[in-house]
Parts: sequence; structure tokens; C-alpha cells
Amino acid sequence: MTEEPDLQRRRFLFGTGQVSSQTAASPVACISPSCFAHMGIACMSCRDACSTGAVRFELALGGARPRIDTDQCNGCGDCIQACPADAIRLAPAETIS
Ligand code: SF4
Repeated sequence: MTEEPDLQRRRFLFGTGQVSSQTAASPVACISPSCFAHMGIACMSCRDACSTGAVRFELALGGARPRIDTDQCNGCGDCIQACPADAIRLAPAETIS
């Protein structure tokens, strides 16, 4: 069973527009290189905050790095609040490589 996203937070971030199910234009989390994991610092706050399991850590040289599963991300923004490096923003799914 999945939790409902925090709609108040979404409305705060994106205005009072309709909140619909995931569409091609739905925003998803995007992690920048300022993430602590890219500096070899073990941090998994975003994964711990994600209620849908959209943040996965992949092994890489120098330590595990976070990756967003855009099919699982509902754009709730919980990871943004949890990130101590301010490394996460929301972006349209189709702009994320
Ligand atoms: S919470 Fe921020 S700094 Fe920590 S692993 Fe996630 S993106 Fe990186």
C-alpha cells in the first residue's frame, strides 16, 4: 500500500493547480553533483525520507551514489527537505537523463 503524497507541500511548491496522477509533465526529484555522496560522505537521508522507495543507491568508485527511479518518484519533495546538502530539486521527468 502506498501513502498519499503530501499534497499541501506540492501545492506550496507548484501553486494551487490540479494535482493529478503521474504524467509526462510531472516533476520528479533530481540530484545534483553537490550531493555529499559525490564527495565520499556517507549520507542516505533522501532514501530514508522517501516513502515510495524511489531513491536507490548504486555502488560506485568512492562510495554509493543516489539515483532516482523516476517511475517511483511522485514528486512529493520529502527528499528535498531531508537533504543536508541542498542537492535535490524537482524537474520535469523528461528533462532528467
Ligand atoms: S540527502 Fe542529499 S547529500 Fe544525502 S545522499 Fe541524498 S542527495 Fe546526497
